[in-house]
Amino acid sequence: MHELSVVDGILRVVEIQKRKHRFSRVKLIEIICGKYNCLSEDNLQFCFDAATESSSLKGARLKIVRRGEDYRCAACNAEFGAESESLPTCPACRSTDVIPRMDYAVYVRSLEVE
Ligand SMILES: [Zn+2]
Repeated sequence: MHELSVVDGILRVVEIQKRKHRFSRVKLIEIICGKYNCLSEDNLQFCFDAATESSSLKGARLKIVRRGEDYRCAACNAEFGAESESLPTCPACRSTDVIPRMDYAVYVRSLEVE
């Protein structure tokens, strides 16, 4: 299941941060994911809760932030993000020959800890 592997990744990131910064409790985990990622916040929270039931992460909330669309310019290969729905122009060469990228990546952006 997709959500489970994402939760797995989140737990790894938190574990690394925990060793670095020595916090005891995590309150909020902010996650960034691509526009085309079909992650459901409810499902993700459910899987996360199940996975952290008996750990120090119990009770932490997840917040998903969706990024704008990513594009690649067909003329100069530049990659850039755009928030608007209309087809954007390449910031590097002003070409309008741009291709949306399918981005399924998920990142942990920030942790709120105690
Ligand atoms: Zn370009």
